[in-house]
Amino acid sequence: MQMKMRGERESRVRYYSRSIDRVFTTGDGPYVVDIDGNKYIDFFCAAGALSMGHSPKPISEAVIKYLSANGIISSLDLNSVSKIEFIESFDEIILKPRKLDYLIQFTGPTGTNAVEAALKLARLYTGRVPIVAFTNGFHGASLGALSATGSSLLRGAAGVPLDGIIRMPYEGYSDGIDGISYLDQLLRDPSSGIDAPAAFIVETIQAEGGVNVASAKWMNRLAALARKVGALLIIDDVQVGCGRSGTFFSFENMNFTPDIVCLSKAIGGMGFPMALVLMRPELDVWQPGGHNGTFRGNNTAFVASKALLSNYWSDVAFTGSLSQKCKTLDDLLGNVAAKHSGFVINVKGRGFIRGVLMESAAAAGEVQQEALNLGLLVETCGPHGEVIKLLPPLNSSDEILRAANEILDEAITRTQDRQGLRRGRIA
Ligand code: PMP
Repeated sequence: MQMKMRGERESRVRYYSRSIDRVFTTGDGPYVVDIDGNKYIDFFCAAGALSMGHSPKPISEAVIKYLSANGIISSLDLNSVSKIEFIESFDEIILKPRKLDYLIQFTGPTGTNAVEAALKLARLYTGRVPIVAFTNGFHGASLGALSATGSSLLRGAAGVPLDGIIRMPYEGYSDGIDGISYLDQLLRDPSSGIDAPAAFIVETIQAEGGVNVASAKWMNRLAALARKVGALLIIDDVQVGCGRSGTFFSFENMNFTPDIVCLSKAIGGMGFPMALVLMRPELDVWQPGGHNGTFRGNNTAFVASKALLSNYWSDVAFTGSLSQKCKTLDDLLGNVAAKHSGFVINVKGRGFIRGVLMESAAAAGEVQQEALNLGLLVETCGPHGEVIKLLPPLNSSDEILRAANEILDEAITRTQDRQGLRRGRIA
């Protein structure tokens, strides 16, 4: 079906709807349906915001009940029952069992708002300006977060100089370069030209940057260096937090506690906008009102988030099943990579964020289109778009994981056959 005004009134800036060119109507669990009635498995999940897929019943029912009772919707930073209940749930279900003592700052509702606040806080607390950020990092599109982001496409649109950043190689960026030793040396040398940083900001798994995973060893060394030089360690868990990595926080099972953590996307429960900065209590040097934003009180998101925490994250059946599901996904993708070895370079990622590195960006784009035609939504990422990124709902059944994997396998086969034909013709 053709829809009038499809894309016509919208700015050229729209992006995902170019490669995933469908008009969607409904979503149910791991599925979305388009206007022509076609059903897709959604492994895009709004870049991870839909951690339990579309409209998970325990969450949507809590929201419907809340709306039907005329619950407060928007409250800035006023007290509301839903906000207090969310804080209590987050404390009981997430922070206390992990022995994390963080204060919660509600920021504007998107990831970049949380990152912006975290960078400001680090600078305010330390009185220093530079921030260490990493190659291929992605932290958001507003100016502060953008300066820490690697992508030249995004930074090129800033229109003003983006400074205050010391860019360092992420783990594995370049063979033989140990970025942490190098940074250590620079920061010890009073003539290196590098000033003492306020913070290091890092993703433990670079999501947009190509699903690059930092090892626990590298992260621990980075945390130790930050401590040594008096810089705060900010973990940007906007995309890989809230269970995406296989545990609620992506840094669990590592040997450090971040000073600041940024959360957004999936913390909104079922796709409602919400973002948080978690900070060690002594870092809370904000003046009252020193950072603000109208949409810090999205009560529908608080209700949904509380339902997410109490229905999933306090349910041992759910948390216990996660590692088994991660293993299933691992095995399935490993088989696909082995079958298409050469065309598929490797499978990257951890937990429920996986990247299939293709031979080229063109190949990844074609596989994405084939998968779409066969009924699977995925996005591409990486510096050139050469990685197919899979973000399955965390509550996916083994059946769904298998069905999606079969589509991916078939999409790669078709692309490879077509490329083989094209090459044959050229030869
Ligand atoms: N940090 C990370 C790690 C992200 O992946 C993103 C979004 N992709 C952001 C920050 C920015 O979030 P938002 O788009 O909601 O502003």
